[in-house]
Amino acid sequence: TVYPPICFPGKLKCCSLRPLTFFLITVLLVFFGMGVLSPRISMLETKSEGEGEATRKPTEMQVVKLPRMLYPQPMVMTPSRKDVLVLTPWLAPIVWEGTFNIDILNEQFRLQNVTVGLTVFAIKKYVVFLKLFLETAEQHFMVGHRVHYYVFTDRPADVPSVALGEGRRLVVLEVPGAARWQDISMSRMQMISDFCERRFRREVDFLMCVDVDMRFSDHVGVEILSPLFGTLHPGFYRAARQAFTYERRPQSQAYIPRDQGDFYYLGGFFGGSVAEVQRLTKSCHQAMMADRANGIEAVWHDESHLNRYLLDHKPTKVLSPEYLWDEQLLGRPAVMRKLRFMAVPKNHQQIRN
Ligand code: UDP
Ligand code: MN
Repeated sequence: TVYPPICFPGKLKCCSLRPLTFFLITVLLVFFGMGVLSPRISMLETKSEGEGEATRKPTEMQVVKLPRMLYPQPMVMTPSRKDVLVLTPWLAPIVWEGTFNIDILNEQFRLQNVTVGLTVFAIKKYVVFLKLFLETAEQHFMVGHRVHYYVFTDRPADVPSVALGEGRRLVVLEVPGAARWQDISMSRMQMISDFCERRFRREVDFLMCVDVDMRFSDHVGVEILSPLFGTLHPGFYRAARQAFTYERRPQSQAYIPRDQGDFYYLGGFFGGSVAEVQRLTKSCHQAMMADRANGIEAVWHDESHLNRYLLDHKPTKVLSPEYLWDEQLLGRPAVMRKLRFMAVPKNHQQIRN
């Protein structure tokens, strides 16, 4: 038996997910049970493996034909998980252990020679987190795929040298720090959006944007990749929307009224295609500037604006709290079959000053 070829149709055209395009993508996603329809990949960019940046030639369509594979049959009458929601009401997968076959996904993404960019900020004292972050990423993050780490820092000399696997590189981007930690956190949106334009567009297919006070503790791979993804905040995945810590003042651009909202997403883990991440970060940056002009700062800074954006622009995949967990705060509930990416305990006062 030959697995049917997978066609990647034309590029998403506009900044909002137009209903028709969105519907078609959703149908394809559900049909193939995965979320690999990246608008960038769909353009088929052939990459030269040169020293420097990959060069790409867009074409109309890429067909990926999988080799013969043996794996357990997906059984229609046997749900992959009965204990958790695995699909949003707009038919985006919610990624939990048990819902995907990593062998199929790895095969698909390898055949496309996908390159994943990871942005991480280590400003001022936060450089201390880099070593464990990078070392554990080498063990668990996108193993077998092409990876570019982009480390934004004001202390380039303090970036540790970590042995990288084949096809993986680290780029240090020197950026200014800010006095307030809130400003450091928020300025990530502007810097990511700037660098999407300046280099990410040419260098990677997908971007994942994460906090640095973290360590990888289990597999984080291509199952997360999709045009636009957000992650469920581990502190709120069981909560009613009224209890979410959205910005509740109508004067802020991040305002979400109590009768609205799908999920509470984390500020410390989002991503997607470069085009979508550029739209998201630019939009959040502009909203934060508008707030500043109006003398208001959203309660949870960039996270509040991310939540507003993802309410209006529904993500095409949602990552379960397996993808960002805080064991110190929340222990190890059985519903989390894997804890993949864990907060490193820190003394807030000490590290931020
Ligand atoms: N950050 C930084 N230096 C700072 C403050 C923050 O580099 O002085 C970056 C870092 O990547 C960090 C992220 O901003 O992970 C968010 O801040 P933090 O992790 O302190 O927020 P929390 O996870 O505690 O909400
Ligand atoms: Mn953090």
